[in-house]
Amino acid sequence: MTVLAVIVPLILLCAIRRYQKMQYENRKPFPFMQLPQELRDMVYEHLIEDPVYPPPQLRLNHGSSLWMIPGLWSSSAASSRRLHTSNWIFLANKQVYKECMDVLCKRATFHLTVSPHNYKPSSSSSPPPPSPPHSEDKRLWNISPDTLKDLRTASLNLITTSAMLGVPDPRNMTSTDWTLARHVREELKQLVNVKNLTLDAKALGDPLWNPLWIWYHACQSFKTMGTSASNTSPTGPKLNRITFSLDTWSPGENYLARHGDEDKWTWFCMQGHGVGLDIGPEMTVREFCGKLYQECRICRPELESEEE
Ligand SMILES: [Zn+2]
Repeated sequence: MTVLAVIVPLILLCAIRRYQKMQYENRKPFPFMQLPQELRDMVYEHLIEDPVYPPPQLRLNHGSSLWMIPGLWSSSAASSRRLHTSNWIFLANKQVYKECMDVLCKRATFHLTVSPHNYKPSSSSSPPPPSPPHSEDKRLWNISPDTLKDLRTASLNLITTSAMLGVPDPRNMTSTDWTLARHVREELKQLVNVKNLTLDAKALGDPLWNPLWIWYHACQSFKTMGTSASNTSPTGPKLNRITFSLDTWSPGENYLARHGDEDKWTWFCMQGHGVGLDIGPEMTVREFCGKLYQECRICRPELESEEE
């Protein structure tokens, strides 16, 4: 009986120890860093999300468009630009950070936005020449030069009010002198390895101004970027596509695109059919308007028969 009284607690003790040991072994971290690089990269690819600059939480309190339906822009922005949840991977250690950044720069699309939130036009009617955005507080996006240099795919979103053109009368404005565009082009010069860069020029409604002016000046300011026609040095990256949009309903604007290293821009309808070549840097606003709303002969074949 006494022997049993000694042995039973001993067995129990052993069982508990064994159970605790098993628990401990189960809790041991997975040897992630011992996986081959290719497998680690596959894990990173699952975790990374397209970075959004400036971060969404800074942009939720939007409200300066006179035509804007309250809440509409903010809620759509909030749902499409939800907060990132998987960024914790960057905190693991320096090696994981470096490897993850490498995958991010190669695979993700960096969404770079210029809006009334991160760009305040100068109040004077004759804007001073822009100083290069060297100091951190003048930069539109808080991205390190090393990251900018490495990224391959980016979308530039200009969300523009008429005030952001910085002039009292857009008719007398020269596109190449637009302070905002010069500032943006200056920062984009760091994208030396970008392969796919798109621009969406969104005009925030204003009852006194035609959104056409914002689209026209955006188009003329950025389409020569990266080509010999650019008046900046270095010429910066080339855009692949320029789209035009409104914060409200729009009749459906054509867009500009070019392929590879071509310098020629082609206009396309919303269904992606070519509707004609672009005119070039000397295009007037009237000609721009004509291209923007030129009817597509594939989408509307009756136009062809009307002419015959
Ligand atoms: Zn079409």
